[in-house]
Amino acid sequence: VQIDQPGLGLPSRDYYECTGAYKEACSAYLEFMISVAKLILQERNSSFIESEISEQMRRVMELEKEIANATTKSEDRNDPLLLYNKMTLAQLQKNFSLEINHKAFNWSQFINAIMSSVQITVDSSEHVVVYDPEYLTRLKPILSKYTPSRDLQNYLSWRFVMDLVNSLSRAYKDTRNAFRKALYGTTSEAAVWRRCANYVNGNMESAVGRLYVQQAFPGDSKHVVKEMIADIRDVFIKTLDELTWMDAETKQKAEQKAKAIRERIGYPDEILSDDNKLNSEYQELNYKEEEYFENIIQNLVFTQKKRLKKLREKVDKEEWISGAAVVNAFYSASRNQIVFPAGILQPPFFSASQPKSLNYGGIGMVIGHEITHGFDDNGRNFNENGDLVDWWTEESAGNFKDLSQCMVDQYGNFSWDLAGGQHLSGINTLGENIADNGGVRQAYK
Ligand SMILES: [Zn+2]
Repeated sequence: VQIDQPGLGLPSRDYYECTGAYKEACSAYLEFMISVAKLILQERNSSFIESEISEQMRRVMELEKEIANATTKSEDRNDPLLLYNKMTLAQLQKNFSLEINHKAFNWSQFINAIMSSVQITVDSSEHVVVYDPEYLTRLKPILSKYTPSRDLQNYLSWRFVMDLVNSLSRAYKDTRNAFRKALYGTTSEAAVWRRCANYVNGNMESAVGRLYVQQAFPGDSKHVVKEMIADIRDVFIKTLDELTWMDAETKQKAEQKAKAIRERIGYPDEILSDDNKLNSEYQELNYKEEEYFENIIQNLVFTQKKRLKKLREKVDKEEWISGAAVVNAFYSASRNQIVFPAGILQPPFFSASQPKSLNYGGIGMVIGHEITHGFDDNGRNFNENGDLVDWWTEESAGNFKDLSQCMVDQYGNFSWDLAGGQHLSGINTLGENIADNGGVRQAYK
C-alpha cells in the first residue's frame, strides 16, 4: 500500500500561481469547471442559480490551489531513499491523523473500503509506504479548514468527472476547448482512428500486441537486437573502467549491475503462443457494442481491480512492463530490466535489413540510453536485483553528485523564446540527460 501526494487538474503545481504565463490557464480551467457543472445540472433538469455555481467552482479552485501548494516540488522528490517511508497502518493513523468535518479520518476504514472491491482486508499491522510525509502534514489544516465538506466533495467529483469529459458527447467535449487552447495552444483533437487505436492498445495491450506482432514484427530481427544489446553493454562496462572519478570498489558493483540487467525484446512469447492465458486475461470483461461510455467505466474498474489484487500477489520480476505495440523503450529500476517493444524495433530506429550505422544511430542510442538509466540519479539507488540498496562508496557517490551538478547547470541554462523565455529544469530532466549522453556515446563507440 503506497500513499503519496496527488496529481492535479492543471499540469503542475506552478500553474496554480495563476500569474504571468499561467493566468490564462487558470481562468480557462475555472470556466471549464463551471461549464461542466452547468451541463450536468441542465441534463438532470435541475434548476440552479448561475452565480451560485460559479461561486462553488471558484471555491473548488481555491481548494485545489491550497492542495497544490501543499505538494512537494518535483525538484525535491528525486531521492528514492528519502521518499521511501515504510510504516504500519497503525503508525500511519497515529502519525498522520487528518480531520474532515470535525471527525478523525480513519485510514484503516478508508483503505479497507477500497480493498473490499477485491475481497482483501488489511489490519493495523499492514505495511504502508508513505512517499511524502510532509505533504500529509501540510494537508491536515487544509482539510480541517474546508468544513463543512461540500467543497471537498465537489473537488473529488470534479477530478473524476474531468477525466471522463472526453468520453462523453460533443457538448461535454466542447467544454474543454478554451482550456485546451490555453494549455496547448490548439483546440484540434487527434484523428478518431488514432484516439481509438491508442485507447484500445492502452487497455488491451496483450491482445493488440498479438495482432501487431503478427502483422509488423519479423521474428528474425530479435537476434540482431540481442547482439546489439550485448555489444553496447560491453562498451558500457569498458567505459566504466576509464572513469577517473569512480573508485574500484564502486566500479566492480556497477559492472555487476550492468551484467545483471535483464533484457526484453519485442514481445512476451505467450501473447502469441498461449491462447488460454490471453483469453483468461480478458475473461471478466464484457463489452457491449451500444454502450461506449459504460465500456469505458468497465475498463476503469477492471484496471483498478487488477492493480489492487497485486497486494497479495508475489512480485513478478519477469513480467513485461510494456505492451508490444508501443513506440518507446524502458528501464525499470525495481526490476533492473530494459525493454524494447516491437513498436520501436521499426525503421527508422531499426531494421534487420538497414545498414548497421543506421541501427546504431537509432535503436543503438536508445539501448545505451536505457542501460544508462540504471546508473542515473534515480537508478543508481537500486542494486542488481532492483532492490533499494546503496552500493556506492561515499567518495564515489559524492563525486557523482558533484559531476551531476555540471549537467544540471548546463541543461538548466537552456531557455525557449516561444515559451516566454522559460528555462528547462536541469534537476527534473537530469536522469534523461544522463541517459542521452551515455546512450549516444556508447552507440558511437
Ligand atoms: Zn529515458
